[in-house]
Amino acid sequence: MVTITLVRGDITKQSVDAIVNAANSSLLGGGGVDGAIHRAGGPEILDACRDLRASHFGKGLPTGQAVATTAGRLSAQWVIHTVGPVWSATEDRSTLLASCYGESLRVADELGAHTIAFPAISTGIYRWPINDGARIAIETVRSTTTNVTEVRFVLFDERAYTAFETALR
Ligand code: ADP
Repeated sequence: MVTITLVRGDITKQSVDAIVNAANSSLLGGGGVDGAIHRAGGPEILDACRDLRASHFGKGLPTGQAVATTAGRLSAQWVIHTVGPVWSATEDRSTLLASCYGESLRVADELGAHTIAFPAISTGIYRWPINDGARIAIETVRSTTTNVTEVRFVLFDERAYTAFETALR
C-alpha cells in the first residue's frame, strides 16, 4: 500500500528515489519548480532532456505524459518530467492533470523507484486553483495501483500545504 506524506519545503532537497518535475512540453527548462530542479541538479539533466527532444519527443513532451532522466547532482536517482495542463475556466482539463500523477507513477514503477516526491503540478505558473489541484493529486494517487511505497507531496508554501492537508482528510 502507498503511504502519502505531506512536507512543506523545497522539492530539490528531498531524499527520495525520484523527484517529479512540473515541466513544460519543451523539456528545456522554465521557471518555478522546473528552474529550481535544473539549477540544483546541474547541466546533466538538461543534456538528457535535449537528447529526448532529439529522439523520442521531437515535438516535445505532450501534456499529461511523463518521462524520466538522470537527476544529475540531486540526491534522487531520477527526475520524472511531466507536463501539467494550463488552467482553463472554460474547458475541463482535469483528466490531463490526473494523468500527470498516474503516468509519473507508471514511470516510477518502470524504473523500480519506491519513493517519489511530487510538487503541486500546474498550480503555479499554470494557475490551477490549489484546492482543486490538491484534490485531483490525492484522488489520483489513492486510486492508482503502483509498487511505489511512499508518495511525498512537497508543498512550497503554507497555502498549498493546507490545501493538501484538507484533501487528504
Ligand atoms: P506549473 O507551470 O505546473 O504551474 P510551477 O513550477 O509554476 O509549475 O508551480 C507548481 C507548484 O510548485 C507551485 O505550487 C509552486 O509554488 C511550487 N514550487 C515552486 N518551486 C518549488 C520548489 N522548489 N519545490 C517545491 N515546489 C515548488
